[in-house]
Amino acid sequence: MNSRLKTEYPVIVAGGGIGGLSVALGLARSGFQVQVFEQASEFREVGAGIQLAPNGMRALHRLGLTDKINVWTSLPPAIELRDALDGSRFARLDLGQDFIKRFGHPYAVIHRADLLSTIFAACEEHPNIRLERNAEVADFDQDDSSVTVSLADGRAIKGHALVGADGLRSVIRQKIIGDGRNKTSRLVCYRSVVPRSAIPDSLWNPDVVMWSGPNADFVHYPLRRGELYNLVATFLSDEEFDVTDIAGRPDEVHGSFQGHLPEVHELLQKIDMGRRWLVGGREPVKNWSEGRVTLIGDAAHPMYQYAAQGACQALEDSVCLAERMKAAPEDPAAAFQAYYSARYVHTARVQLTAKHLRELAQFGGALADLRAQLFAERWATQDKSYDTLTWLWGEATTEQSLLCLDEAA
Ligand SMILES: Cc1cc2nc3c(=O)[nH]c(=O)nc-3n(C[C@H](O)[C@H](O)[C@H](O)COP(=O)(O)OP(=O)(O)OC[C@H]3O[C@@H](n4cnc5c(N)ncnc54)[C@H](O)[C@@H]3O)c2cc1C
Repeated sequence: MNSRLKTEYPVIVAGGGIGGLSVALGLARSGFQVQVFEQASEFREVGAGIQLAPNGMRALHRLGLTDKINVWTSLPPAIELRDALDGSRFARLDLGQDFIKRFGHPYAVIHRADLLSTIFAACEEHPNIRLERNAEVADFDQDDSSVTVSLADGRAIKGHALVGADGLRSVIRQKIIGDGRNKTSRLVCYRSVVPRSAIPDSLWNPDVVMWSGPNADFVHYPLRRGELYNLVATFLSDEEFDVTDIAGRPDEVHGSFQGHLPEVHELLQKIDMGRRWLVGGREPVKNWSEGRVTLIGDAAHPMYQYAAQGACQALEDSVCLAERMKAAPEDPAAAFQAYYSARYVHTARVQLTAKHLRELAQFGGALADLRAQLFAERWATQDKSYDTLTWLWGEATTEQSLLCLDEAA
């Protein structure tokens, strides 16, 4: 049953990506009225795949989305890590029944468009949520009883509270933390989703596979139950680029994968070289909540893609934040402090892990041998590998901060 809490103004969410829409849904299911402002002309995601580890699937479950999401997800049998120069497999993580039993939810992959449209549809259907596109949040002010959000089109909108879900270049973060924009990056990424028919049988693999070589790595996995194939090439450039520099430069890609096995090059040819992304992370920070305003997802804790956790953490944030707001609906400042306190050390650990994995992914020479040894130790047996990952994917960690977010009675 849906209900509405009688706060004078809605909770405002800046940004309608995975984080913004999932927190809107979580808050609405807890009884809040929610207004989402998205700057773009559509609520949409880039054409690429995304991995949803059990913690992300658990958060989606708590948002009531399991059945809808399962229409779109594929369950890869394993994660495989391979050396791109000699082809050796230095790690394999089985994602079968033992894994699902251990973590309570599967490790899934999904097209980003399918993930976002599923959450979007649930938001659109929910009577407590209003979604507005072409609405850029420019600034905010707050006092003891409300927050006023200024939009770029000149409107001023009053809210009960404000959640900054406006991603890597968050304007809300700049007002709360003020650590400047993430302006340049040397880590360049090209990605495409192609039809199954574009991939020769000899290159097809049902697993999530990462090929690791010096300063460059390549990830692939099937999507939509094998209809599509997701390809991601990432390398460290000698140059630093402005993050807005997105026009593709095919020459830089092929040069960066020199020495990688022929199959990696063959897959590389399938990627659209017309557009590139400059990716990066930031160091963890404290104090992402200020009074009635807080941050979630990449706005709060941007991280490298190497733990495949940015979206999963945004989903966890969303459930945790909604749960804390539900516990103190009249006092968003207290609720946001409780949310932030529950999340910041954990997300800092995920950020650091992603940074560490970024280095491991692009080792060569002696360091590649060290990497093989480290994985042989940490993932020596199935149980040991699952133990190593329990802090990140396990039920116990999230149980501490996430309760089941039932529809408010
Ligand atoms: C190559 C790559 C691979 C990845 N793989 C994975 C993976 O496998 N698994 C995983 O969990 N994560 C992965 N991630 C990370 C994941 O994509 C992000 O962490 C996640 O999308 C962050 O979601 P978000 O909603 O916080 O931010 P965003 O997706 O950036 O959404 C922010 C939204 O806010 C809007 N916005 C921005 N500014 C304003 C404003 N001023 N006013 C209004 N709207 C605004 C934007 O238009 C956008 O819609 C990957 C990232 C990369 C780069």
